[in-house]
Amino acid sequence: MVKAYAAKSETSGLAQHTIERRALRPDDVAIEIDYCGVCHTDIHYAENDWGGTIYPVVPGHEIIGRVTAVGEKVSGHQVGDVVGVGCLVDSCRQCSACDEGLEQYCLNGMVPTYNGEDRHDGSVTYGGYSENIVVSDRFVVKIPAALDPAKAAPLLCAGITTYSPLRHYGIKKGDKVGVIGMGGLGHMGVKFAKALGAEVTLFTRSEEKVKEAKKQGADNVIISTDPKQMEAATQVFDFLLDTIPVQHDLNPYLNCLKYDGTHIIVGLLEPVEPAVEAGALVLKRRVLAGSLIGGLPETQEMLDFCAEHEIDCDVEMLDIKNINQAYQRMKKGDVKYRFVIDMKSLKQTAA
Ligand code: ZN
Ligand code: ZN
Repeated sequence: MVKAYAAKSETSGLAQHTIERRALRPDDVAIEIDYCGVCHTDIHYAENDWGGTIYPVVPGHEIIGRVTAVGEKVSGHQVGDVVGVGCLVDSCRQCSACDEGLEQYCLNGMVPTYNGEDRHDGSVTYGGYSENIVVSDRFVVKIPAALDPAKAAPLLCAGITTYSPLRHYGIKKGDKVGVIGMGGLGHMGVKFAKALGAEVTLFTRSEEKVKEAKKQGADNVIISTDPKQMEAATQVFDFLLDTIPVQHDLNPYLNCLKYDGTHIIVGLLEPVEPAVEAGALVLKRRVLAGSLIGGLPETQEMLDFCAEHEIDCDVEMLDIKNINQAYQRMKKGDVKYRFVIDMKSLKQTAA
């Protein structure tokens, strides 16, 4: 029996629960969880915002822990290693996406870390709000010794989500990059774009975030609700990383792109409203696209990049019994910038 925190219905909030973890398969790694970041997606699943939540759901896909056992065929991980597990725990391993290390785009469907269906036995996957987890070695990454494990947890979702598009589109020294929104994703986007050598501008609605953005490394800040500032940014940017998780008007941002500029959505799954003016794309050969987390090789690359460039996530540590209050605060954007559950707080609770 493994202690965990689960939501039992859309309205229950999270409470203590027990789950089972599978016996080790030959390629499995057993991990005792030390830290788990709290992602907005966790709230969406706990409250069934997207439909399809299978209750009870144990959220958590920013997992850091130590290896406690390995299956007979595992050679890449050893007992005692500090490792991470992000948003996915399996994929078909046979399609072109999987061959390319882009398991998140698996043609046969990746298996998410929670609320997914295990490919072998059909059981439901449970995430990182728990004492331990068992994951196939291909989906386990190494946490470099230079990283603080607690601050590294959100790298496994917030980090890779922003790193992957910046790398895929080849952001380099001197590029003008705009990061839209500064929550968990946005503040990582600023750090990565800066480390890649870009001139970084944060777009925010809030005057209060100006100082904060500079502290995170942004060179400039544009208050997006000020039409004059937006107008002055017309045709300035090579790349926009849009981290806003709610519907918003993309047109003013598209106009800030140079010809051939690219606007990447990472925070939104709903229809875009108001509609995008096709002319804003056509007349300047601009690109509007999206990006989902990253594959396993790129996630490892991102962690190594963070170690080399001394990048981590700004976190607020959380006792798991306060998880429901943390969700309420996150809904108001009241966290700098990510909650991370210290899993000692779960181990210390009575079974
Ligand atoms: Zn996430
Ligand atoms: Zn596949």
